[in-house]
Amino acid sequence: MDDVIIVGAGIGGLTLGLALHAAGIPCRIFESAAEIKAVGVGINLLPHATKELAALGLEEALAKVAIETSDATFFNRFGQLIYQEPLGRAAGYEHPQFSIHRGDLQMVLLDAFRARAGHDRLVTHHHCIAVEQDETGVSVHFSDGPGGAAGSTIRGRVAIACDGINSAVRKQFFPEEGEPRYSGVNMWRGVTRWQPILSGASMVRAGWLSHGKMVIYPIRAAGADGLQLINWVAEIETPLYRKRDWNRPGSIGDFIGAFADWHFDWLDVPAFIHAADSVLEFPMVDQDPLPRWSFGRVTLSGDAAHPMVPRGSNGAGQAILDARALVSALTENDDPVAALAAYEKQRLEATTRIVLTNRTNPPDAILREVFQRTNDTPFAAIGDVISREELVALSEGYKRIAGYSKEALRTR
Ligand SMILES: Cc1cc2nc3c(=O)[nH]c(=O)nc-3n(C[C@H](O)[C@H](O)[C@H](O)COP(=O)(O)OP(=O)(O)OC[C@H]3O[C@@H](n4cnc5c(N)ncnc54)[C@H](O)[C@@H]3O)c2cc1C
Repeated sequence: MDDVIIVGAGIGGLTLGLALHAAGIPCRIFESAAEIKAVGVGINLLPHATKELAALGLEEALAKVAIETSDATFFNRFGQLIYQEPLGRAAGYEHPQFSIHRGDLQMVLLDAFRARAGHDRLVTHHHCIAVEQDETGVSVHFSDGPGGAAGSTIRGRVAIACDGINSAVRKQFFPEEGEPRYSGVNMWRGVTRWQPILSGASMVRAGWLSHGKMVIYPIRAAGADGLQLINWVAEIETPLYRKRDWNRPGSIGDFIGAFADWHFDWLDVPAFIHAADSVLEFPMVDQDPLPRWSFGRVTLSGDAAHPMVPRGSNGAGQAILDARALVSALTENDDPVAALAAYEKQRLEATTRIVLTNRTNPPDAILREVFQRTNDTPFAAIGDVISREELVALSEGYKRIAGYSKEALRTR
């Protein structure tokens, strides 16, 4: 009987598999997809997450495929600089901030897991449809892909659901919950090959959600042509949206109007968007925090436990922190039920705060403040609008809530 059954080979499931393997706890990962493909666009890993990945010996492999982000830079929609601060090592952290293609991150984790734990420890084409348990273990039932015929049942000591925002296990325990909750903001995401912008390692946020906000950061180093692969997200308050599908193509015509006059000395935004390799569209969604995740020998982790709107670069990071907490709990408690309860105690309240703060005061609250105080007009000097101390306080407040202030990382 396998000790730990992990449902889902996304960022959280693979990290958990690696961390359990490192702790000498046998596990197997079951993934719904027939083949793991490098899907997605950009993701950020903040120093609390890269610290955990470095402890798993992955920092070098990640540094080869990622950009080490050096600064966060905020502009209004007139291209005026509001605030800039160093990030990661440039800010004095022991570990870097990485901006990375989600597919590259998943492949680093996948290759390491297969090399260390063995190819047979990751089983694809297994879509979890239900879990059952008794005093001696869990039985996880799978079909051969979403909507496929019922296939096999696997027994284990515990089951951990890392099956993402549409988690089948979460639905089993919370059947009344319904679809993810739309935030009122729709996103169009893409990647463009472009010459380095600003420092070449800047995380740029500009504008505001009501008129159009852009997030822009490079995710792959420049090739021989000098062009980086640069991730961008256009975020606009939009009443209508279509159900989240990670692969739904988007249309530039649906949102370019909001950015038509964004011709700045640091970037010609319309030209940059038009040069995109591809555009995806998905709504910004989350779910209300749950009262519990652990049910005996079964628990939820990552987006299955605490999906959050992507306004704080914390979705992948919190899944990685869950993995570390799960391994500690399973190592410290012989009783699996007590272990999963201890994990929930450590992580539920902390992630609830992040889910709720991402709705109200994530780092881009800086943009909202300036938008409101200037009544969406250009300013003569930013100091007339908001003080440096206030800007720093907004930024540091989020770091404390999300668990990556420098003090928190030093003491962890
Ligand atoms: C295809 C895809 C593309 C994404 N693109 C981006 C992006 O561009 N930017 C971004 O910030 N975030 C993206 N995300 C979300 C991001 O990966 C997560 O928010 C975050 O990393 C938390 O990771 P997670 O492991 O909890 O969930 P995920 O990374 O979403 O992983 C969940 C995994 O579970 C599998 N799965 C789902 N249902 C079942 C089931 N019933 N049985 C077995 N396996 C199942 C999925 O195929 C997936 O591999 C994407 C997720 C997916 C699945």
